[in-house]
Amino acid sequence: MHDVIVIGGGVIGLSIARELAGRKAVLVLDRGATGEGTSWAAAGMLSPLSEADDQDPFFQLCRASHDSYRKFIGELEDETGIDCGYSGSGLLCLACSEESANALRRRCEWQRKAGFAVENISGDEVRRMEPLITADILTALFMPAESSVAPRRLVNALRESCLKRGVEIRTGARVQGISKNAVRTDGLTFEAPGIVVASGVWSPELAGLDPPIPVYPRKGQILSLCMPPGAFRHMIRWHHSYFVPRNNGDLIVGATDEDVGFDRSVTPAGIGKLLADAQAISSHVGSYPIMETWTGLRPATQDGLPVIGPSAIPGVFYATAHYRNGVLLAPITASIIADLVSNGRSRVAIEPYAPSRFGNSGTDA
Ligand SMILES: Cc1cc2nc3c(=O)[nH]c(=O)nc-3n(C[C@H](O)[C@H](O)[C@H](O)COP(=O)(O)OP(=O)(O)OC[C@H]3O[C@@H](n4cnc5c(N)ncnc54)[C@H](O)[C@@H]3O)c2cc1C
Repeated sequence: MHDVIVIGGGVIGLSIARELAGRKAVLVLDRGATGEGTSWAAAGMLSPLSEADDQDPFFQLCRASHDSYRKFIGELEDETGIDCGYSGSGLLCLACSEESANALRRRCEWQRKAGFAVENISGDEVRRMEPLITADILTALFMPAESSVAPRRLVNALRESCLKRGVEIRTGARVQGISKNAVRTDGLTFEAPGIVVASGVWSPELAGLDPPIPVYPRKGQILSLCMPPGAFRHMIRWHHSYFVPRNNGDLIVGATDEDVGFDRSVTPAGIGKLLADAQAISSHVGSYPIMETWTGLRPATQDGLPVIGPSAIPGVFYATAHYRNGVLLAPITASIIADLVSNGRSRVAIEPYAPSRFGNSGTDA
């Protein structure tokens, strides 16, 4: 009945299903409702430059995905009428210590030499751009091309687009295991020549994976404040924290990165640190109402890279472990998997993300 079964309806699985629709008959299986996994928790930064210290293959992958984002969102919004909260207002990276100032200067130097849009600016210039920043800023970088999206709206739009394109979506369908050409849920077996594992941090739970993959959770606590209209206009990063202002008045403050297994609790230490960091950078935010606190589990690997590519079972492909960049990497992952499923080749180099790199035991080779 179907050509391809996608296991998992998060930003990755839905993007893949949407890309394949029209060419293939696609079924998405999700154990819950779609879009309620890690994608629901993301901040939505699309920022390949802000943490890059050289032009390694992963940076190239992130950049290629970023380059396609405006078109990806434009088509999705036209198709569904859903505003995905895309903003191209750029990102400020702030340094409040000599150590981080030096790191930013080094980053600026190589990125400028390589021709990327990045400017080294002073604390006074930062305050002209963001008058509510009150911390002493030693130096800053402005990356005008970095952008953001609202992940919950994005996932809604992807689901709508999939349905319009004829993808069948079954929710409440927990996959137990896979084998060549078959996917087994609690009571049913679905058959298809192509199977895509896109179940995020829960991917290793599927029986029959060959090779097994060592994906593990990194908890992120995150919150939103209600800011006065236009209070902050750019994404702002400093130390390990960030602001992402949304056009609906939310100011996202993120995020912790914790190795605590599948625990998803919101804790005083986690939220307390985010609130303290936020007030240290702008004393004004201390009076903003807290709208929501939440957590998500990033699907991580030991080398920090995603798992994208063919498994040892013919017709079975992995698209998982996108850790901190799954929203950013959704368009390129979708195009890679669509190529692999359709003709067995990827136009993008995917060797660094090979599932086989962990060996057959599923631990780092
Ligand atoms: C706090 C936080 C902030 C983040 N910020 C950013 C950011 O700014 N930018 C960015 O690019 N990324 C960000 N990320 C990372 C990003 O959210 C993830 O990389 C991305 O959401 C992974 O998407 P996914 O589709 O692989 O997983 P998920 O969204 O988790 O989707 C997996 C789906 O599979 C389903 N599933 C699981 N097991 C089964 C099963 N057995 N059978 C059927 N269905 C199953 C689940 O129900 C779920 O719907 C952030 C993450 C966190 C936690």
